[in-house]
Amino acid sequence: MRFSPHVSVRVDLARVRRNVLALRQVVGVPILAVIKADAYGLGAAGVACRIKDKVSGFCLFSLHDQAADQLWRLTSKPVYLLGPPTSRNADDYLSLHIHPAVVDIEQARALKAAQPTLCVETGMHRLACRPEDVRAALVAGDCPAAFTHAVGLKQVDRLLAATAEAPKPLIRHAAGSSLLKEPAARLDAVRPGLALYRGAVRVSTRLIEVHHQAGPAGYTGFISPTGCHGIILAGYSNGLRRGPCMVGGRQATVLEVGMQTAYVSVDPRDKAGDEVVILGDGLTEDSLAEAWGGPPQMALVQACSMGRRQYVS
Ligand SMILES: *Cc1c(COP(=O)(O)O)cnc(C)c1O
Repeated sequence: MRFSPHVSVRVDLARVRRNVLALRQVVGVPILAVIKADAYGLGAAGVACRIKDKVSGFCLFSLHDQAADQLWRLTSKPVYLLGPPTSRNADDYLSLHIHPAVVDIEQARALKAAQPTLCVETGMHRLACRPEDVRAALVAGDCPAAFTHAVGLKQVDRLLAATAEAPKPLIRHAAGSSLLKEPAARLDAVRPGLALYRGAVRVSTRLIEVHHQAGPAGYTGFISPTGCHGIILAGYSNGLRRGPCMVGGRQATVLEVGMQTAYVSVDPRDKAGDEVVILGDGLTEDSLAEAWGGPPQMALVQACSMGRRQYVS
């Protein structure tokens, strides 16, 4: 998939910073900002520089993520990986001030010098250490920290239980965005991704044609509910899906999506050149996600990939 040159993706880093400041007020523990997948499409380096003085570190998926080799130089903050190690050579991590996540005794031993974090299995059943091996893995890696990928409080309790016999005091963390509101999930740090980015991206394009004709039109023979429709130059090859949009500040609908074009419902007053907003201006990641079928993180990363990214000052 390639972005459409007709779509603009405007990223407001000041909003990301405000989100972080608001979060600090609520959680009262250090924030490890999740900037994997190029900060969900907002740009890992740009986001990291804007919030570095307000967070304790950054989380990436792997050494191969965008900006992994620059974050220490740009921010002087450590990076913690969330995905499985792709190198068994501790120097590959040490030189970049990156701490790998390890999932078993053998990985923990191999990467001990890089002060690895142990990822503990609590219910996701993927890429994590079995509870019965946790103590031995913590010893083997001399791990300073342990975490789990939790969607509920039960998993937080399992992390605490599995690490209760730790050989030395541990930094433990479990909460991503969905658990931030649960005081019992915050532990020693929180690991938000989406919560940093909500409301910070506006994705838009313009009507290239308006047709005053109810239909049937398009491949599917749709009938526009407003009696007319507009055309935009973005389609499913650019990541667009059927769902909500805004035209001229009013709620509208992406009625049918082709490879590089789409039909949207328009008001009889709308004309070619008017703006069509796909994300932003009150159209949230959640409403897009509901229509597109998936979590809001998916809607955000997909919407960000639709056009060329620009930072608004
Ligand atoms: C991606 C990720 C997060 C952040 O998730 P959000 O729901 O976007 O806050 C936290 N922890 C782990 C292990 C992750 O992979």
